[in-house]
Amino acid sequence: MSTTGKVIKCKAAVAWEPKKPMTIEDIEVAPPQAHEVRLKVVATGVCHSDYYILYEGGKEHGFPCVLGHEGAGIVESTGPGVTRFKPGDKVIPLFVSQCGECQLCLSDKTNQCVKNWTVDEKNMESKSRFTCKGKVIIQFMGTSTFSEYTVVREVALTKISDSAPLDKVCLLGCGISTGYGAAINTAKVQPGSTCAVFGLGAVGLAAVMGCQAAGASRIIAVDINKDKSSKAKEFGATDFVNPKDYKKPIQEVLMEMTDGGVDFSLECAGNVDVMRCALESTRRAWGVSVIVGWVDVKDVSTKPVDLICGRTWKGSYFGGWKSVQSVPKLVSDYMDKKIKVDEFITHTLPLEKVNEAFDLMITGKSIRTVLKM
Ligand code: NAD
Ligand code: ZN
Ligand code: ZN
Repeated sequence: MSTTGKVIKCKAAVAWEPKKPMTIEDIEVAPPQAHEVRLKVVATGVCHSDYYILYEGGKEHGFPCVLGHEGAGIVESTGPGVTRFKPGDKVIPLFVSQCGECQLCLSDKTNQCVKNWTVDEKNMESKSRFTCKGKVIIQFMGTSTFSEYTVVREVALTKISDSAPLDKVCLLGCGISTGYGAAINTAKVQPGSTCAVFGLGAVGLAAVMGCQAAGASRIIAVDINKDKSSKAKEFGATDFVNPKDYKKPIQEVLMEMTDGGVDFSLECAGNVDVMRCALESTRRAWGVSVIVGWVDVKDVSTKPVDLICGRTWKGSYFGGWKSVQSVPKLVSDYMDKKIKVDEFITHTLPLEKVNEAFDLMITGKSIRTVLKM
């Protein structure tokens, strides 16, 4: 029986309030409105940003909510005016939109879009199509992939190859694309250069992969978890450094190892002190340091002179990819074996075990857990 135009009841992991585990609930998912698409989520990765919102006191995105922004699924129905999607299409929801028409979309200087979900944070409730126990449940980042069904705007959705395995390519909806793009598109790592990547979760390992793809001759992987060493080498790192093994600041260690600093560094840990270390590990005259780790409630600092002499400090959102057009190409690159995806997946669990997936990530036991619906 067709579900088109009807409310769908399904399971979702609801985060009722900050710093409390999510609970699995029966929620109602309304039909898509104009220029919206409802999809059946098939699989979703669990990213540190989901954890950050719930447990690390990120900026208020509104509770109760359904987290999850690294999913892949199949279109169930489309709202009025939708022309690019039809039921049955394989799709990846996007936490950064690409309307293709706004001033930002028309510029090649950015992957931001004025229609992005987070631009209009005041109207989170009116934009949600989820309810549970009579309450509106906010759709985190406009994606909410920790649910069996979700509704997304068509500007924040992309169609991918019919033959793509959804339980793998879901990771291209955030972590892998972010780290890989941060190295290639934002840092613009050059052949023969020396790089350092701080923080070796999925985002950092993807940054290592990006540095290698760009032809870096030395890639120093930095993490306080010694167990990340072998994985980093598998992704292309030439050296592994654990800051805990040294008494002196890690930037001094890297300066000495490289005779004056790395050409490029990427911070993928989400810690403002590490951001400073990453900047100060680069060569004073021309080093480029990219902030990828997500922090929205603390300041980052350095001495102005550390920039004056020639360093550049940048940030990268979703790896600089223009989302709608780039994600299908990244999916093809994976299927053509040009980029790794399977190697990031260390655990597969059902949606019901979403809190366990957070534990695995935060204790450093997993790289990525994929939740299958
Ligand atoms: P993760 O938790 O899987 O990995 C983080 C890694 O950092 C871990 O291996 C941890 O041991 C390491 N780490 C922690 N403290 C460190 C320190 N002091 N020095 C060195 N390493 C340290 O996280 P992830 O899912 O890979 O995400 C990484 C960061 O990227 C998070 O902050 C996340 O919110 C952010 N993120 C940003 C974007 C973006 O668009 N900019 C997108 C996705 C994720
Ligand atoms: Zn993410
Ligand atoms: Zn736009």
